[in-house]
Amino acid sequence: MAWDFETDEVFQQELDWVEEFVREEVEPLDFVVEHAWNMADPVRQKLVPPLQQRVRERRLWACHLGPELGGPGYGQLKLALLNEILGRTHAGPIVFGCHAPDSGNAEILAHYGTPLLKKRYLEPLIENEIVSCFSMTEPQGGSDPTGFTTRAVRDGDEWVIDGEKWFSSHAGFASFLIVMAVTDPDAPPHGRLSAFVVPADTPGIEILRDVAVYGHREGEGTHAYIRYTGVRIPADHLLGEQGAGFEVAQTRLGGGRIHHAMRTVGLVKRAFDMMCERALSRTTKGDALARKQLVQEMIADSWIQMEQFRLLVLRTAWRIDKYNDYRKVRADIAAVKTAMPKVLHDVSSRALQLHGSLGVSSEMPFARWVMESFHMGIADGATEVHKTNLARLLLRDHEPTDGLFPSGHLPALREQARARYAGDLDL
Ligand SMILES: Cc1cc2nc3c(=O)[nH]c(=O)nc-3n(C[C@H](O)[C@H](O)[C@H](O)COP(=O)(O)OP(=O)(O)OC[C@H]3O[C@@H](n4cnc5c(N)ncnc54)[C@H](O)[C@@H]3O)c2cc1C
Repeated sequence: MAWDFETDEVFQQELDWVEEFVREEVEPLDFVVEHAWNMADPVRQKLVPPLQQRVRERRLWACHLGPELGGPGYGQLKLALLNEILGRTHAGPIVFGCHAPDSGNAEILAHYGTPLLKKRYLEPLIENEIVSCFSMTEPQGGSDPTGFTTRAVRDGDEWVIDGEKWFSSHAGFASFLIVMAVTDPDAPPHGRLSAFVVPADTPGIEILRDVAVYGHREGEGTHAYIRYTGVRIPADHLLGEQGAGFEVAQTRLGGGRIHHAMRTVGLVKRAFDMMCERALSRTTKGDALARKQLVQEMIADSWIQMEQFRLLVLRTAWRIDKYNDYRKVRADIAAVKTAMPKVLHDVSSRALQLHGSLGVSSEMPFARWVMESFHMGIADGATEVHKTNLARLLLRDHEPTDGLFPSGHLPALREQARARYAGDLDL
């Protein structure tokens, strides 16, 4: 009997260490390091690497990687428990070397990169000596990659890329970009795109502007609107087969989505804890908020939503470890991705509400988290797309009935049962 909700003792000791380290050393970073991905920021460069070194010494660096890439090969379940703690913070993932989008881009390079690309980009990426960008979405629409127009055309020993990309996060900090471009315009929709490694200093790359998400001031944006004009890269910078861009992109998205969900569990827990503290601390009309039944409902509903989500994430992580094949867990990941924005939205909205005017102010993080829930419902595929994919996958395990009435129609079932037990019913 293998169902179990315990963490093994040895790993629990690691989690206890991480818990304290994150609380004492990483949480304060979020207040002083403006952008933990910005390698050109001297404050970041002074404060982050020493903490990364302590994580390495503890052998907890890049825990998402298998031993072949220098990671401990913990698997997704242990990673989920670890990521829950890191998710409470912004800088946590980068201090532990498992931050997006670099973790996913590293997976792509490990799978598809030539030895030269691995040496030049994968090794320093894993060590966080450099950061990277994934450049796929286009200004005219991201949900439908079959409508992308950025072209890559072969010219002798080079590919030449022309087009525009939108919301390419961290492009301004990146040493290289993974760019998706149309190489085979006449192929069937899912065979048109290819993936390329593009060094960031290649002539022809122009960041038109760095778009800020709501809540960040103009000038603080990190989501680049990029124009590629005659960008020339060597032929061997193609990743995977020509026309296999979708397959390459999936390599990063499966893992990326579940890792994001693991971290979201931690963020939701933080909102929940703050809500409980407030409910117990604030009084009105002589009573703590915690004694009002409508407030109790908010707390109960939040806990149930949070725990349901956490169990779904952990079960998905367990299934990834079990099958070691993302195709077998596509429905699970779509479900997690769909549930993630809603749980963060609902719990942080209730936490905001219970903090009253303070809750909506910029002195508390709730409004930012509510906005972040919208990012989660859009980035890496909109909720609607995941939900419809999930339904499609689930329906594959079901059959239509030929009959006029459904197979669960009670009169027919009753008739069948009566016929089966006819002899006994006469007793
Ligand atoms: C914080 C953040 C970071 C991002 N980082 C990156 C990055 O690093 N690299 C990158 O390439 N992209 C990135 N993106 C872009 C992201 O992948 C796209 O925003 C996403 O694919 C949706 O594309 P779109 O914004 O063009 O919305 P659209 O495709 O225009 O869709 C708009 C809305 O229409 C609805 N919709 C869409 N399709 C359907 C459907 N089939 N059925 C029903 N409703 C539908 C949804 O509500 C959707 O939100 C990021 C986005 C965010 C918010």
